Amino acid sequence: MTCFIQPATSEVLRKAENFEELSPEEIVYLLRLQLDSPDVYALMHAAAMMSRRTFGLKGERHMHIGLNVEPCRFDCLFCSLTGKAGIFTESVEFSTEQLLDWARLGQAQGADALNLMTTGFYPFEKLLELGRLLKSEGVNVPLVANTRDITHQEGKALLEAGFSGCYHAIRLGEGRDTPFSPDRRRQTIQVIKDVGLRWMNCIEPVGPEHSPREMADLILLARRMGATYSGVMRRINFPGSPMQKHGMINERELARMVAATRLAMGDVPRAHCTHEPHTASLMAGANLFFPEVGSSPRDLEDDSGKGRGRSLQDCALIYQEMGLDPWLESNCFQPDALPLSERANVCGNLTGITAQN
Ligand code: SF4
Repeated sequence: MTCFIQPATSEVLRKAENFEELSPEEIVYLLRLQLDSPDVYALMHAAAMMSRRTFGLKGERHMHIGLNVEPCRFDCLFCSLTGKAGIFTESVEFSTEQLLDWARLGQAQGADALNLMTTGFYPFEKLLELGRLLKSEGVNVPLVANTRDITHQEGKALLEAGFSGCYHAIRLGEGRDTPFSPDRRRQTIQVIKDVGLRWMNCIEPVGPEHSPREMADLILLARRMGATYSGVMRRINFPGSPMQKHGMINERELARMVAATRLAMGDVPRAHCTHEPHTASLMAGANLFFPEVGSSPRDLEDDSGKGRGRSLQDCALIYQEMGLDPWLESNCFQPDALPLSERANVCGNLTGITAQN
């Protein structure tokens, strides 16, 4: 059987095959492809093959641990942990014993990283203390901080406290749906790079109202600033969310975005994330899930492990069902550049797919 795809699609896939940087217009073109078209399946195939070529069969599980709940006064519109959302009316910090238990669970069940997330007003020194404590207690899973904007001094302090990386994103709608300056967020990304932390990123939280061009600009930023990973996460609308009027994208739409983003990132990243865990994006180049415990900006439960969060075991099962291996060593924390597969024409291979003239 021969499938026909548009010559323009074929051209972008061939360019991506060589890991060339795509233009904003080419990324927008991919993000706008019709969902049921052969072009989208060709895009997803090319993205999946690019990930096999660069990441092998590894399925990464970076365990999110939300350290605290508070009615956060920053009031980002997409977040359930805000004062305005009215879901959490009191501040709660999970106990040190609880956090240690979760970290040990992560280590025992093969987590590739522990992402320690704080709300906007959480004391930075306490995050450092937790990093030092986990290291002194023998937790050897790489630590990734997910916290507020930081200075160079604070970035160095994270490194000294045992952190290997920092998750930071200029969110879609930053400065409009949040009170934060995109420029300040970008400065923090530069700080992370300058001090030698690995920079983890995601295009998030995507809703139907976000334009392909806004996404393309953030995708190119991630490529040019050398993100360790930068996939796509969709926004989850909690009951009463001010974003409910926009609706949510579905997993197929998310998979198309994951694929376009994967091709745009080329040979820069060590993994490609998506959230929440699901199968469709694993056929579109994603290979990194975030199992969740503790607080989450998408949940109504203070412990997302009892709410929306998927467990490490859940994520391992999804990978196995999709032919990926969660037990291989993580690619994200290796010091050297990843060797690419020797196999020729495996990325974006258009065998059986013919451009329609
Ligand atoms: S996203 Fe972070 S800073 Fe914004 S309201 Fe939620 S917890 Fe606060």
